[in-house]
Amino acid sequence: GQAEASKQNKKLVMATSADYPPYEFHDTSGEKDEIVGLDVDIAKYIAKEMGVELEIKDMDFNGLLPALQANRADFVMAGMTPTEERKKSVAFTETYYEAKNTIVAKTGSNLTKMEDLAGKKVVVQLGSTQQNAVEEAAKTIKGIEVTQLNKIGDLIQELKSGRAQATIIEDTVAKGYVVSNKDLEMNAMADNGENAYAVALPIGSAHVEKFNQAIKKLKESGELDKLTKKWFDK
Ligand code: GLN
Repeated sequence: GQAEASKQNKKLVMATSADYPPYEFHDTSGEKDEIVGLDVDIAKYIAKEMGVELEIKDMDFNGLLPALQANRADFVMAGMTPTEERKKSVAFTETYYEAKNTIVAKTGSNLTKMEDLAGKKVVVQLGSTQQNAVEEAAKTIKGIEVTQLNKIGDLIQELKSGRAQATIIEDTVAKGYVVSNKDLEMNAMADNGENAYAVALPIGSAHVEKFNQAIKKLKESGELDKLTKKWFDK
């Protein structure tokens, strides 16, 4: 259940999947292992606007919405796209970012569209919009073999080992992994799908309005631009 402080509205518990740099990831460079990133900075801004503390819980992407529904978190922020399917079980704020899908594969593979995945082993993150996109494509494109794993780092390992030949990851996240893995390349996809980001809250939560107000202020004050630059210009 929720922590006492959370019940007294003094603290908000955020659930995330900290495998998504630069939005949320473990910074182990300091003395303690800290979850940092653009989403974390936005969450801190919102918490400050609301005058509450922020606690972050790290879990698999696929477990985020179940955790929210089980009251183990007050909100979810994980580069999450407000899809129609998800809107059946949770509420979303206004969007604060828009990403693009890219295909990540071994350098020289030159895969740029769904059709290029015909006959390939494709690994995707469990519960992601990328999983939906590939599974949908596999209905009409021959021989796409789809497997799912929990963490983005695991997808990268599958590619490097050759157990999978492609994955789909959003551009800003793929970029970091490709920069640090010279044997991998990324290509923007012809069809980018639906990739805006928003905060998920329980349906009927009194916080939705407050979150939207804070996000509006974040955008209008120029603070979102500042934070985006901070995390993307590295
Ligand atoms: N935006 C995608 C989704 O909502 C991927 C998010 C993620 O993997 N963190 O499914």
